[in-house]
Amino acid sequence: MRFADTIGNPEAVSALREMVDSKKIPHSMLISGPAGIGKMQLARAFIAYLNCSNRINGDSCGVCPECRRIEAGNNPDIHYIYPIHKKGKTHTLCAHYADEWKKMLHDSPYMSLPHWNSLLDAGNSKPVIYVTEADAISTAAAMSAYADAYKVFVIWLPERMNPETANKLLKVIEEPYDDTIFLAVSNRPDLIMPTILSRMRRIDMRAPDTDTIEKALIARGVSMESAHEAAFMSQGSLLKAFETLGNGGETVEFNDYFQNAMRAAFARNAVAGRQFSENVAALGREKIIRLMEYFTRMIRENFIANLKIGVLNTMNSSQQQFASKFAPFINAANIEMLLSETDRASADIARNANAKLVIFDYFLQLMIALHRGHSKI
Ligand SMILES: [Zn+2]
Repeated sequence: MRFADTIGNPEAVSALREMVDSKKIPHSMLISGPAGIGKMQLARAFIAYLNCSNRINGDSCGVCPECRRIEAGNNPDIHYIYPIHKKGKTHTLCAHYADEWKKMLHDSPYMSLPHWNSLLDAGNSKPVIYVTEADAISTAAAMSAYADAYKVFVIWLPERMNPETANKLLKVIEEPYDDTIFLAVSNRPDLIMPTILSRMRRIDMRAPDTDTIEKALIARGVSMESAHEAAFMSQGSLLKAFETLGNGGETVEFNDYFQNAMRAAFARNAVAGRQFSENVAALGREKIIRLMEYFTRMIRENFIANLKIGVLNTMNSSQQQFASKFAPFINAANIEMLLSETDRASADIARNANAKLVIFDYFLQLMIALHRGHSKI
């Protein structure tokens, strides 16, 4: 991972680069900002730059043995700490989940928490950083580095520590060894214990704007239309942007679901509704949640199209064609109901409720809402 691979937040990149260049590296740092914007990528680019034996133009080289070891997750001086969902009573250390973690960094560099949960087989339970981990950190920090380099402890989601873990870690952070760096990566710095937070040098990242995302995607070879679509869907989250792209034809597939569901609901076709619920249930939780996001967006877009504020409309041609007939049915009489029912379905799915029942009930609500809208045309 190089600085050149990161997207947006040039000030954060400069600040980290400058620390290495000036050899003034704080012992504890916090990279914070909304989920899915590339904080872990920046942390990894920083570590690579710190260790690279052949820095070029303010970036790591990406090919020297140090860079490759870091990329492969095989540098014994880089310790990753992350919340886990323990299996049984004994496996409360991150080290037990190192294979899953490597897979996570490889598969989901923008750090999808649902993906991490699925790798841990954790269902909906919230993974945590156990107190035993703080003891392990303390032991590892006291040992000297393998190479003549820094020991770096990268702590993903420090907000997932309970107070006992945080208090133990605080002791290590308060009296750091010369060659030790703590680099925390947090979505919710407001949930970190204040005594820890106050000792950390903050690097705050912001969600990149859609224009930055669109340009970055085009620079990576994505077509202009797909880049525009993905950037629009992202709402500033690179994770979402890449999910939209990575899932290839997902927009086309979701569009089919949307149009078929709306037609069937309007026709009060319960048989088609049942089929819809069965097909959607088979998509799996993460994908259903993305589908519901797509429904939300299309409902909004059709409402806007109905208001005839063309400038706000960002639909592609297939979506526009459907909207030319469908938009009048999304109006002031039902927009709130449609959005709140879509939110509710998504939240129920996230809670692991029975997907078939949730989606069939959602379909019935669509029927009611669309007819409520129809009567107001
Ligand atoms: Zn290198």
